[in-house]
Amino acid sequence: MSANPYPLGLRLAGRPVVVVGGGAVATRRVPALLDAGADVLLVSPELTPALRAHVDAGRLRWEPRRFVPADLDGAWLVQVAVDDRAAAAVVSSAAAERRIFCVRADDRAAATAWTPAVTRHGPVTVAVLGGGDPRRAMTVRDAVRDLLSARTGRAPAGGTTAGSAGRGPAAAGSARGGGAPGRVALVGAGPGDPELITVKGWRLLTEANVVVADRLVPGLLLDELRPDVELVDASKIPYGPSRAQEEINRILVDRALAGNAVVRLKGGDPYVFGRGGEELLACAGAGVPVTVVPGVTSAIAVPAVAGVPVTHRAVAHEFTVVSGHVAPDSPASLVRWESLAGLRGTLVVLMGLKNLAAISATLVAHGRPADTPAIVVQEGTTGGQRLLRSTLGAVAQDVVAAGLRPPAVVVVGDVVDALTSY
Ligand code: SAH
Repeated sequence: MSANPYPLGLRLAGRPVVVVGGGAVATRRVPALLDAGADVLLVSPELTPALRAHVDAGRLRWEPRRFVPADLDGAWLVQVAVDDRAAAAVVSSAAAERRIFCVRADDRAAATAWTPAVTRHGPVTVAVLGGGDPRRAMTVRDAVRDLLSARTGRAPAGGTTAGSAGRGPAAAGSARGGGAPGRVALVGAGPGDPELITVKGWRLLTEANVVVADRLVPGLLLDELRPDVELVDASKIPYGPSRAQEEINRILVDRALAGNAVVRLKGGDPYVFGRGGEELLACAGAGVPVTVVPGVTSAIAVPAVAGVPVTHRAVAHEFTVVSGHVAPDSPASLVRWESLAGLRGTLVVLMGLKNLAAISATLVAHGRPADTPAIVVQEGTTGGQRLLRSTLGAVAQDVVAAGLRPPAVVVVGDVVDALTSY
């Protein structure tokens, strides 16, 4: 590269950006584009489940086919995330004709724009370009991240790689070549805002060389992983839910026994309806050292960020968190909904949208007043958050009318109104 790149901060809010490709690279790139508010058009015959989740949630548009040059009409930027050089070159030349900057994952020399290694600290974004060497960029980025983390009180990096200048997954990877035992950490990723992971969870994530992530994990956390970190998308595993869980357990154990530092990254807290306990038992049973790093659960944090405290002085002295994924009249239900109806305090229902009509009817039938305030928060703590205020009696039909979708938290109780004057 003869000339230096010219750094810019692109303000993409509301501006069309095209992503070509629907695989692992696109899965890592799309969250940052969405975070910047870009109007993303994804062109690809196939999608990963994580990308499909963005499509299903209406966060981006998807053309399920191969790229045609007219896809770029009106775009401000294009990201090429396909392996096929010839196909990527077609996108490049269509972009050049239209004077649109083109980022290419397959060939940095052919790209007209480079994506930097990034670390975000509140309003500050540090972007590092490594002169065409992404590893150099990441090493510098990691150093800057450590510096800023130390300032903001985050824990310093672990000392597992003494003598190594770098840290994080690459350093951990080289340290693990010599038969060092692997380990698994079950890490809570928080409810959606990528800053709501814990300091410890974040540190383990930066040290991992295998990350097994759930669908509800904030995409921006994965955006900062080094390219050599193996990212396993747990939502992609086929078979039914129980076979899929066995498969996840097997992956955790196998990777750890092979000497890897494995992070099992789970939405919210690993033990709140997250099957974390099963994974812990599977690892322990196979002799794999395993730890749990609690996370900020959506059950408390999503209402909080939406303006609802789960307890409030003189309003509620209790809160109950319950899963609504099994209907109240189902023989498989482990919840005594009739008894919950008799509680005065706050009821937080996760996974409850599908059965909300039956749940609210059961609660009212057993004595909880129909005019009890209720709120539904979809995609809480994220840019896509939606709120619906209602009452216990009306909430089910209001959710349908508003077209709310999972993931959503339903909160029932007087706390819903506790801060409305604030
Ligand atoms: N372990 C997770 C919960 C897993 S169950 C935790 O502690 O948060 C998945 C359910 O959590 C979803 O169906 C939804 O009810 C809730 N949920 C998770 N993230 C959410 C979010 N950002 N907004 C609203 N609800 C969320």
